[in-house]
This record gives sequence, C-alpha cells and structure tokens, in this order.
Amino acid sequence: MLKKYLMAPGPTPVPERVLLEMAKPVIYHRTDEFSKTFAQAAEGLKKVFNTKKEVLMLAGSGTAAMEAAIINTLNPGDKVLVIDAGKFGQRWKNISKTFGMDVHVIEMEWGTSADPAQVESFLIANPDTKAVMIQGSETSTTAYHPIKEIAKIISTKDDTIFIVDGITSIGVHETMMDEWGIDIAVTGSQKALMLPPGLAFIALSDKAWRFCEKATIPRYYLDLKRELKSQREATTAYTPAVTIINGLKVVLDMMEEEGLANVYKRHQINGDATRAAVQAMGFKLLPTGTPSNAATGFYLPEGFEGGKFAKFMREKVGITYAGGQDHLKGKIIRVSHLGYHDAFDTIVAISGLEMGLAKFGVKFDMGAGVKAAQEILKNYIGE
Ligand SMILES: *Cc1c(COP(=O)(O)O)cnc(C)c1O
Repeated sequence: MLKKYLMAPGPTPVPERVLLEMAKPVIYHRTDEFSKTFAQAAEGLKKVFNTKKEVLMLAGSGTAAMEAAIINTLNPGDKVLVIDAGKFGQRWKNISKTFGMDVHVIEMEWGTSADPAQVESFLIANPDTKAVMIQGSETSTTAYHPIKEIAKIISTKDDTIFIVDGITSIGVHETMMDEWGIDIAVTGSQKALMLPPGLAFIALSDKAWRFCEKATIPRYYLDLKRELKSQREATTAYTPAVTIINGLKVVLDMMEEEGLANVYKRHQINGDATRAAVQAMGFKLLPTGTPSNAATGFYLPEGFEGGKFAKFMREKVGITYAGGQDHLKGKIIRVSHLGYHDAFDTIVAISGLEMGLAKFGVKFDMGAGVKAAQEILKNYIGE
C-alpha cells in the first residue's frame, strides 16, 4: 500500500467534506438550485477577498484570471511595471509582452521580497505607468511581497492600477483588497481554496472597472464585463464548472466555520514550524525576504540530486514535495503548508524529509526537524 500525501504548493489536498459534495450527480446549471449555491459562493468569496465588489468565477486555471486582468484593463503600448522575483513574476511579464504592453521590470534575486521604495521611485520617474503587477506570494521562491505597502503607494494615483496575483496569498495571508487599495486580485481553486484545479477568481476595484471601459484588446471568453452582467444574476455567461462551484460553497462554509483569522493563523503556525524544522536540520531557507506562509523552500546540500530525491519520495514513499524551477531545479525542495493542512500534516512532511534524506545519505541530526516543529505546534494543538 502506498498512501499519498500532497505536500506541494498546488494542487493541494481536498477535504473529505468537499470531495463528498463533488461526488454528487451533476445538476443542470440554469436552475434556481444552482443559482442559490452560486450566489452563496459569490458572497463567501467576497469575504475571503475582503471586498464589496463582485469576485468573478471563471472556468480555467489561475493563469486565465491573470490574462483576464491584463486584457480587460490595459491596451497595447501601455507602460506597465512588473516585479519579477521568480517564475510567477515572469508570467506577468510574458502575458504583458504577448499583448504588446511596454513592459518595465524590477528584476530581483529569487527569494527576495519587493522593496516598496523601489516601486515608488519608478512611479515618480514614470508617472504614465498604467499598471503595477506582482505576486502576493511568489510560490517559486516561497517569499512574500509587501502588498499592503505597495498598494498604499499606488492607491493615491488615479491612472495606475495595482494588479496582484494572490494565487498563494489570498486565504493564506490577510489580504484586504478594498481597504489596502488593491485594484485587481486573482486566485485559483487548487491552492488555498482546497479544491481541484479548474476555477479562477478575479475581482476588480471601481478604478479597474473604469480602465475596463477604455480597454480595446479583443476578448470573448474572458470578457469580464459580460461575466459581471451574468454573475450579478447568479449565473455565468457560459457553462459554469458546476461541480467545483458546489465544492467551493462547502469550502467557504468551512473557512467561515474556522474563521478567517484562524485560517491565517494556522498557515502562520505551520509555516513557522516548517521553517524551524528545516533550519534545525541544518538547511538554509530559500527566502531571504519575508517568508510566505504558503510553502517553505530550502536549499539541499551542494551536489545533491534534488530531482531524484523528489521523484523517489513521490513514487516510492507517497509524499509529493515540489522541487525548484529554472536555475533552482534540483537544488531546492519546497514543502507546502497551504490549504487543507494541519499540525500533523507538517509532522508528516518533516518526518518524511528526514527519513528520505537520511536514506539518501545526507548527514544531519535525525529527529531534530520533527522536534523543532513539535516544539512550536504543541502550543496550538487542541485549541
Ligand atoms: C500556481 C500559481 C499560478 C499558476 O496558476 P495555474 O493555476 O497553474 O494557472 C500563478 N501564480 C502563482 C503565485 C501560483 O502559485
């Protein structure tokens, strides 16, 4: 028998209650029954985004919402600023280039967090900048960016919007879309929202909707104005992902029952425990800036074959960790603590690492990681 554990930052495990809901027969979507669930899910999403604006649901992966953000608000030739501190920052750059924007980049070393002062000076030198794009949490490096501080700078400007890929930060770190002044926030179903892949979410501020009025790039499926019209009537323009939306309603009930503050706290504690554990094992954390509470990346010993290790753990042991991307391929491991993840999942993740690395001949104090995690987690279990 090989029991499977998903410990990668997406897709993340789906709770039993949600799986059971999604096992029910598919229902027809133009019905009061479906519209009722849709409306409840739409309300629940507003709480997670901390916005009064509609959070639109699109059938697609998170990247669909990223593309929708750009093509619905910007025009070819528009000057945009992208914070590129990893793989997902590069995605903002690539999508913007695809649609002909004048892309300027603040390129940062992987693992660092953005410096709001650098964004501010760019905007002073370039007052014609139409948009600034960033990740909340840069999943490829497990670093968190100072979204609140950057939003503060941009929110004073009428002609610049702030676009945040919150795919591994919304539902993980407190994200106050309206209060902080985020103009577009996007996320996906398969990360903090504990669902299978297949849904993307996007919310726009009044400022962003004004940009939408002037956006000329042709769009059909990802036309957000059309979606807004339909979704205000508790349906989608085209066939919704009925099954995942039914699951989403249950996920949002679970988050409400736990309390959002407790959801954030759980991610913080499991993040703290995981970071303490890998450091106690003698490894260096990848993030040098603020660490994300979605996942923890750390460097493997020099010359160690990380790819082989991750494959062994996934195929022979049943634990899926994520490796590194691009120049970090084979050099790091990323351990998720995202979504449906509690104290004992952290223990499994760390204990699995210890046993696996020991088997691969890495020298460290066996048990030091689990102990360090337990020392932190023991203060919270049963509360
Ligand atoms: C996973 C992820 C994405 C990509 O989402 P897809 O669902 O694969 O399209 C984008 N940004 C971040 C920060 C992510 O973690």
